[in-house]
Formats: sequence, C-alpha cells, structure tokens
Amino acid sequence: MNKTIYRLSAIAAALLIACSCGNDWLDLESSTAISTDSSVKVLQDCKASLNGIYSTMQNAYAYSGRLVYYGDAAGDDMQSYKATSRTADVYLFGYTQNTVKESYWLYPYSLISACNTVLEQIDNIETSETEFLNYYKGQALALRGMFLFDLTKLFGYPYKKDNGASLGVPIVTEVLDRNAKPSRNTVAECYTQIIKDLTDGIALMNTKTGNSFHKGWINRPAALSLLSRVYLYHGDDAKALSTAQEAISAAESKGYALWTNAEYNNAWAVDVDASAPGETLFEIVNLTDDSPGKEALGYLYNDYGYYDILCTSSFYSLLSSDPDDVRLSVAPISPKRTKRVFIKKYAPQGSETISDANIRLLRLSETYLNAAEAAMKTGDNTLAAEYLNAIVSRANPANSVSADEITLDRIMTERRKELVGEGHRFFDALRDGGYVERYDVSIKAISSTKHLVMSDEKKKFNWDYDHCVLPVPVGEIDANPNIKQNPGY
Ligand code: CA
Repeated sequence: MNKTIYRLSAIAAALLIACSCGNDWLDLESSTAISTDSSVKVLQDCKASLNGIYSTMQNAYAYSGRLVYYGDAAGDDMQSYKATSRTADVYLFGYTQNTVKESYWLYPYSLISACNTVLEQIDNIETSETEFLNYYKGQALALRGMFLFDLTKLFGYPYKKDNGASLGVPIVTEVLDRNAKPSRNTVAECYTQIIKDLTDGIALMNTKTGNSFHKGWINRPAALSLLSRVYLYHGDDAKALSTAQEAISAAESKGYALWTNAEYNNAWAVDVDASAPGETLFEIVNLTDDSPGKEALGYLYNDYGYYDILCTSSFYSLLSSDPDDVRLSVAPISPKRTKRVFIKKYAPQGSETISDANIRLLRLSETYLNAAEAAMKTGDNTLAAEYLNAIVSRANPANSVSADEITLDRIMTERRKELVGEGHRFFDALRDGGYVERYDVSIKAISSTKHLVMSDEKKKFNWDYDHCVLPVPVGEIDANPNIKQNPGY
C-alpha cells in the first residue's frame, strides 16, 4: 500500500477510487457506496450516502469488530484466549507505531470524510420533505460526533487526566483538499466538537421522524444516550443526568423499553423492529448476504467460532457471586472449550450464521447506568438508586440497592456486569482515574482460565501508562509532518 494513502487528505479520494472501481481497498467492499462529493443532489442521494456510511461502519475492522473489541481486550474483564489470538495485540499492548492496525485511524476518518461530504451538499438540496432532510443531516452530525469520540478515546488520554490538555486527533469538519496537512487538536478541543456535533444533530432530529425507530439508523434517543456518556467522560455530570433523562423519556415514549428478566437471554438474537424495538437504541445490522465475516464479533467472541476472547476469572468471580444473576445466561461455561466462559451477546438473528450477529452499539440499559452515575455524582443518591435498581432488579428480582448503599464503586461494578463484552470496560476503568487490574481468581469451574504472561506494567495500570493510548500509525506520521506521535512510542 502506498504510504500516501494513509494521509487524511487522501482518504476521500481513496474511498472514491475504491467505490468507482470496485477495488478491494482495505477490505472495503464494493457495496460500500459512499457517494462522491458531486452526487448528493436530491434527498434520495443523501439517503444512499448515509447507507454507504452505515455499510462502512459494518466492516469487521470498524464497528462490527475491532473498534468495539478494543475496549474489552485492553481491559480486565476479558482476555485473549492465546498470545496469537486476533485480539492479543490489544490485550498485551504489543503494538508499535509500525505494527498498530491502521484501521483504527483510517476507518473513523473515512467515515468522518463521508459525513462531511453529505453535510457539505445537503443544504443545497431542494425538497418539501424538510423533516427527512433534517433527519438525514442530524444523523450525519451525530455520527460524525460518534466517530470523533471514538478516535479521541483511542488516540488521546482521558479528558480528566489533564482537563484535555494533551493531544487528541485532528478535527476535520469539511471535505479536505488533497494537500491538507491537519495537526492534532487537543483532547479538550475534540470534546468541544464532539458535543457540538451531537447537540446539533439531536436538535435537527427533534421531530416525529427523528425520534422514531429506523432499522439500523441512529435516531434522537440513541444520540442523546451517546451524548450522556460523552458528558460523563468530560465531567459534565449535571448535563449527563439531564441528557440521560431526556434519552430515556424520548426512547420510552417511542416504545423502547428495558428488556425484562425473562427476555434478557434471548433478546440478543431478536431481530428488532418498530413494533418491538426493545432496548436496542442503535445497532449495526448484519445480514447473511451482507456479512462482515469471521473477523466480526459474532465469530470472534464465540466458542464455536474463533474463541478469540473470553471472560477473565476475576470477572466471572464477580458476576457469578450471585448465581441467580440473569446475565450469567450470556456468560455461560463453554461446553466446547473446557472450563472457559464466553460472552454470548453477539447472537445471530433467525437462521443466520454466528458471523452475521447484529452489534448493539447503544442500549437503553447503558442510558440508565449513565443516569445513575450522573445522579450520584451530582449528589442525588435517591435518584441514582432508582436508575440503578432498574438494572440491578432486572438482573435478579430478589436484589435491590438502597440510596444509603450508593457509591460510585457500586455503580461502576454494575456497569461492568451489564456491559461486559460491549467495548466499555477499558475506557470506564480509566476515565475517572481508576485502574485496569488483571489478576487470576481461583474458581474450580473455570480453572483453565489464566491471564497470559505479561509484564507488571500491563497487569495493573491507570491513565499514566503511556500505552493506554494507541500510537498514530507510522504512515500518517510519515505523510504528514504536522502529526505528532504520542509519548512512549
Ligand atoms: Ca444479523
């Protein structure tokens, strides 16, 4: 691959070539129909461009796989099966600027570039369907905010470490000239842009159309839920609370609802629709004829697939301390891999194979946990207990937490149990100054599970560990002298 292809400014051009020729560029499939900058002329073009964005998100090196599993493999609730597993370079922090997968950088920037193309053209569209136009524009903005958030989390230190003074990633809000050589913005500047994009998108989607269920598309309740998480990472706790509450109210008024205890185990395999959206606020829809393949979470996480990544003994000890916790139903002891526990949250829909499992990127359970955390942080433990109990009592109706028992630690423990395998743990552990701690617990039922050999600095670390951020891929550094590398690489 020619190194100039890494350059940010070349991404849009490279995608265009990949699309027009049907070439296999970085495994982008020919069906990835991201429109060229001259093609968004009518509402239908806009819809096609958005579908191209969702199709690119579907790639196993994007949101059907790598961009999600990073947060699991780098944390302490999951671990790679062996040192040669696909997830092991993340789990063992084995990458250098030469070996880091460039997809961590390229996919989000390709997607941002596609959003910029839509946003640059959309105001020129003449249509009487302004509600749909605004919904499309709102999606492009909200998605751009999501992609920048993920880039900032991967390449920049947690905001609270230094109030965002360290380097994040370049903020790109327009279609770049081929010769553009953007510099990295600070983490603080990135958060300002992330919050602006999500807020602007949410405002445009505040319509019947924008609040409603659309299969595989982000909508206002989903964007509000993501924004509440962003506010927590950014330390805006009062806004995190009001935004999570708005998300819950918007979602529930449109028929979304937390899965019940009885529904929980099978809910992951349900092919949701507008009549019963459940708690899936935003998902990547994978189908058999549109499959992300075996590198996707459905195959990677499965003991009958690549059995690449599994639960740690410390996590299983935590979850199984209550044998009646319904979440054990998606963390069963494997009948296939002796004394190991795999996460079964990527279940195929209907008659699909496991590779085709949908990926739930935003769930209403997380929104409740965001609300509980934000309420606690703003001093309202009674309210925090209400939101937390929706999750605690759903997991086991015999359990509840009183306001007196509410602590940040208690809420984060529930978050671990609820969101394991969904790419959260590493970021949740570090964003408030906490630790990732990898240790083995002796449990007879899963006695095969031990952490792989690693140095002490990888067994326990916080945001001072320089490898808690990825290196910028060397191709980008070589092509753009304005891009500075992270310390320690
Ligand atoms: Ca599916």
